[in-house]
Amino acid sequence: MAITGLGFSGTMVLAHLVNSAQPPKRIALIDPSPKPWRGLAYSTHHPAHLLNVRARAMSAYGGDADHFLRWLHAQKEYAGFRADDFVPRRIYGDYLESIARTALEKARARQIEIVHLHASLRTIGGGNPHHQLTLEGGAQLSARALVLATGNRFDEAGEGAATRHPWHISADDWKHGKHGRIVLVGAGLTAMDMAASLLADGYSGEILMLSRHGLNPHAHNASKAGDVDALLAHLMRGGLSARLFALRRAMREGTQDWRSIIDGLRGHTPIIWQSLNAQDQQRFLSRLLSFWNIHRHRMDATQRARILAAPNVRHQRGQVLKASAHHVQLRHSSREQRIDADVVLDCRGPSYRALIPALADASAGELIACHPQGGLISNDAYRVNDPSCAPIYALGALLFGERFETTAVPELRVQAEELAKILAPLS
Ligand SMILES: Cc1cc2nc3c(=O)[nH]c(=O)nc-3n(C[C@H](O)[C@H](O)[C@H](O)COP(=O)(O)OP(=O)(O)OC[C@H]3O[C@@H](n4cnc5c(N)ncnc54)[C@H](O)[C@@H]3O)c2cc1C
Repeated sequence: MAITGLGFSGTMVLAHLVNSAQPPKRIALIDPSPKPWRGLAYSTHHPAHLLNVRARAMSAYGGDADHFLRWLHAQKEYAGFRADDFVPRRIYGDYLESIARTALEKARARQIEIVHLHASLRTIGGGNPHHQLTLEGGAQLSARALVLATGNRFDEAGEGAATRHPWHISADDWKHGKHGRIVLVGAGLTAMDMAASLLADGYSGEILMLSRHGLNPHAHNASKAGDVDALLAHLMRGGLSARLFALRRAMREGTQDWRSIIDGLRGHTPIIWQSLNAQDQQRFLSRLLSFWNIHRHRMDATQRARILAAPNVRHQRGQVLKASAHHVQLRHSSREQRIDADVVLDCRGPSYRALIPALADASAGELIACHPQGGLISNDAYRVNDPSCAPIYALGALLFGERFETTAVPELRVQAEELAKILAPLS
C-alpha cells in the first residue's frame, strides 16, 4: 500500500492504519517535502501565522475532540494556550509531527514495515493486482492500493501567474525595500497572513492588497453553529439565485447571528453542493466563491483589526490583468493602471483545479477522471478508479468538485479515519 502526500490527510490516514485491527504489512510513504507531516499550512515558522479556527476545534481525531488541547497542555512551552485561542500554525505542525512519530513507533512495535520515499510521485501505471508507481528520479515501486493525499496546489496560470507565491519568500526578499511597496494579489486569508507577518517583522513600507471586490475575510466572534433545519429546505431545491436569496434573507433577517448560520450549514454543505446542477455549481464558483469564502473562512478578530488599522496597509479594488515580479496592470471601472512594487506576491491561495503531473497524466490515460469543478470524480468510498485495476483512493482537496467542503481539518479528520477503515482489510 502506498500513501502519496504527507500533509494532515496522509499523516492521519497513516495514524489510523497503524492502529487498525488488521494493519497492512508494508506501507510506502511518498512525499518530497523536507518537512513531512506538516503540509503547506503548518510548515510556516512565522509566529504571526495563526490557525484560522480556535484551538478547541482543531483536534486531529474526530472521536476525541480534546486531543489537540491535551497535547498543547502537555507541552510546557504551549501550556498557556486556552481552548479559545488562535494558536500559531507552526505549533499545529509540531502536533502533527508528534502524531506521526507515535504512528511510526506503533508501526515498529506491530512489525509494520514503513518505507519513506522522499520524492514526488511521477506516474501511476494502472495495473491489477498492483499499480506500478514511478517517482521523480526514476525509482519504481508497486502498490496494491494507492492513496492520493496531495492536497493544496497552486494555479500556475492566469492573473498573478508571473509573480511569486508567498510561501517561497523570506524576509531577505523585502528587506532592501523596507520603505517601498509590496503588492499582494488577493485579499483573502493568504494575503492577511502575509500582511500579519510583514507587520510583525516591522515592515514599514506600503502593503497594497489588490482584489476584485475589495473584501477581506470576516472575523470570528463568540457565536456557535446554529440551527439551520428550516433554512435547509430552501437550500436543497431550486436554482442558484433562489437559494442565494433564501440564504441572504436568513443571514440578514433571521434571529441568529449570520456566523451561526454559516457554521450550522457546514456539515450539510456537500449535500447542498451536490444538489446543484453543473451549471449552477460553475456559476457559484465563478461569481460567488470569493463572497462565500470571506464568510465561511474567517479569522481571529484581533489579528484582523490590527492588520486593517495599520497605516501602511492599503486595499485597492480592480482586476489584475497582468502581473510580474515588480509590476501589476490593474483595471477598475474601465480604467487601467500600472502599479510598481519591490515585490509582487500571488496571494490567491490554493487552486482546486490544478493537478499534480502524475494525476494529469493518469487522467489523460483515462485511469482516473477529473471532476468538471475541480479534483477527481470519486464514489462515496473515496475510490477514484474503476474496479478493473487495483484501487486508487483520494481525500482532501482532490474531492473538491464532489464535496466542495473538503479542505479543512474538521472534514479531513473524518475522511482520513473513514478511508483507513476501508484500507485496512485490503492488505
Ligand atoms: C496557509 C493555509 C492555512 C490553513 N489554515 C488552516 C487552519 O487554520 N485550520 C484548518 O482547519 N485548515 C487550514 N488550512 C487548510 C489546510 O489545507 C488543511 O488543514 C490541511 O493542512 C490540508 O492537508 P492535506 O494533507 O490535505 O494537504 P497538504 O497540507 O497540502 O499536503 C499535501 C502533501 O502532498 C505532498 N505532495 C504534493 N504533490 C506530491 C507528489 N506529486 N508526490 C508526492 N507528494 C506530493 C506535499 O509535499 C504535501 O506534503 C490552511 C491551508 C492553508 C494553505
